[in-house]
Amino acid sequence: MSIHLILQEVFGYGEFRGPQQAIIEHVVAGGDALVLMPTGGGKSLCYQIPAIAREQAGQGITVVISPLIALMHDQVGALHEAGVSAAFLNSTLSGEEASQVEKRLLRGDITLLYCAPERVTTPRFLAQLDSLYERGKLSLFAIDEAHCVSQWGHDFRPEYRALTVLHERYGSVPRIALTATADTLTRADIVERLQLQDARLFLSSFDRPNISYTIVEKREATQQLLRFISNEHRGEAGIVYCQSRKRVEEVANMLCDEGIAALPYHAGLDTKVRQANQDQFLRSEGIVMVATIAFGMGIDKPDVRFVAHLDMPKNIEGYYQETGRAGRDGEAADAWMCYGLQDVVNQRRMIDESPAGEEFKQGLRGKLDALLGLAEATDCRRVRLLAYFGETYGAESAAAPGRPKQGTAPSGGSTAHEVASVGARCGNCDNCLQPPAVWDGTDAARKLLSTVYRVQQMGGISYGAGHIMDILRGKTTEKVTQRGHESLSTFGIGAAFSEVQLRGVLRQLIAIGAVTVDAQAFNTLQLTDASRAVLKGEVAVQLRESVSTPSERKAKRGSAAAVVKVPASLDAEGQERYVALKAWRSEVAKEHNLPAYVIFHDATLAAIAERAPQSLDDLQGISGIGAKKLEAYGHEVLRVMVSV
Ligand code: ADP
Ligand code: ZN
Repeated sequence: MSIHLILQEVFGYGEFRGPQQAIIEHVVAGGDALVLMPTGGGKSLCYQIPAIAREQAGQGITVVISPLIALMHDQVGALHEAGVSAAFLNSTLSGEEASQVEKRLLRGDITLLYCAPERVTTPRFLAQLDSLYERGKLSLFAIDEAHCVSQWGHDFRPEYRALTVLHERYGSVPRIALTATADTLTRADIVERLQLQDARLFLSSFDRPNISYTIVEKREATQQLLRFISNEHRGEAGIVYCQSRKRVEEVANMLCDEGIAALPYHAGLDTKVRQANQDQFLRSEGIVMVATIAFGMGIDKPDVRFVAHLDMPKNIEGYYQETGRAGRDGEAADAWMCYGLQDVVNQRRMIDESPAGEEFKQGLRGKLDALLGLAEATDCRRVRLLAYFGETYGAESAAAPGRPKQGTAPSGGSTAHEVASVGARCGNCDNCLQPPAVWDGTDAARKLLSTVYRVQQMGGISYGAGHIMDILRGKTTEKVTQRGHESLSTFGIGAAFSEVQLRGVLRQLIAIGAVTVDAQAFNTLQLTDASRAVLKGEVAVQLRESVSTPSERKAKRGSAAAVVKVPASLDAEGQERYVALKAWRSEVAKEHNLPAYVIFHDATLAAIAERAPQSLDDLQGISGIGAKKLEAYGHEVLRVMVSV
């Protein structure tokens, strides 16, 4: 079968997306490839179609290395639904089940085999691969989530390092490595570690146009979150990321108390509970998962309508990968983050206190600063995000496949200057939808820094943010009087600024490195080399006046969120058909022990509801209905149509 025919017949899709076709052709022809594509871009087909095509050409099986054993079951289930022979080998199988799979493997009875990395490199498994290789039946290696090989890639897995054995042992077998983490450092590491120097690089645009980005200032975080979910995403599936296990539990409980179906997920939970919660999130509709970053890698649930960060992540790579889990189906979705001064202080402290070497820590600080820059930005968030990944928003060349962008090395992010020169607007982020008022914080910044300087001069010791702000605002607290700080020349010179404003100034100063917070000394503020330029007035400090609240945004955006639940494009009868189809799908999914979207996507159900098919012919050609699904479900779908 041609690759187009496989796309249509097996997967039921009419056209390739973005660079898929070029990648697939290259791999089918036996080339190595490194694929960088955002989450939801459609990476799976890039190795699944070559696997099918090469197997049909007698070249044998494809081994897919994937770090997330919990999801292999659903991935293999989805392939079965499409009529593709697939299996997985991981620790969830019993000895008996595993040896069944091994038998099928050696018989050549499997097109795609999913494996955990630690399994691949066992002597037993390698011996089996040897046998296939000798018979010319080892077709392709697909290394999914390839950033796991790099310690820069935030999901570092030591087992991935051992994967070089594949290349060394089976030199003639093509390899395709895929990841959604695209910064140059990680990319270079993948190439080196997996010995992919000769692989062709396929770099897609990292833009996710259907995701709307919003970053708000933290006031009462949980209340802000509650308003965001209640106003914009009631009844919809979403993920809320928190920094600690304790916080995960608290937030999940709070949401449940407010009538929002929420479940916790973190590494401290019993494996069984964690698995059950994940299953429920994948299989039921409208569940909010409250989680630490332990959750989500490889989650391919397409209808996650929002990803919220209640605490700031470590870097833009993490933020972008986590937010990328929203809206994989291409429908409108939200990425919402709230952050405050404490987040900045906490993240700095975690870096300072980590046992890593100084050079490594410097790298981490640079990445954190880039994220702070994004959070404090007053211009388009999308432009900044894409610039971080070396892409110019709206520029054609960025999306060109197979061609690396030149002259971009965003290991620590782009500078504000570079970004400002672009000046483009996406129209789908908070700053574009409601441009924030900007005020000149230069004067406030100078006053703040000189207060830090003077208190240190006076007593030889430093103080924390709260005390410095009290002095500036002329508050005669006990501490101020005791230390004699009323006598400082800066006492009260910042009385015109609110505490919120001064906190904003401080965040910005930390972001540009003009102040550091010393975690070893009670979080006291310290001047740096960069402070001088600000004190002298050489650096302007631009600050956002206030941050839009979700309910304000809502008014601007109209009722976009409601569209998803029952597609508004359908007439009343169409909507009835849609509801009936959903009920039918959920029965089938339960029977097969698979998530509903593996049977049919929402968009496919909507297309069926709209067409109101009378015959199998009418069903053919609807996106998402391949030959196998038509055969398996066609008649049932027609029956549902008649029953409405
Ligand atoms: P990724 O692994 O890159 O995050 P997936 O491979 O899970 O993305 O694909 C995301 C979604 O897009 C899946 O639901 C998939 O079925 C769908 N998809 C992929 N390629 C196409 C295509 N050519 N046409 C329509 N839908 C597609
Ligand atoms: Zn924008």
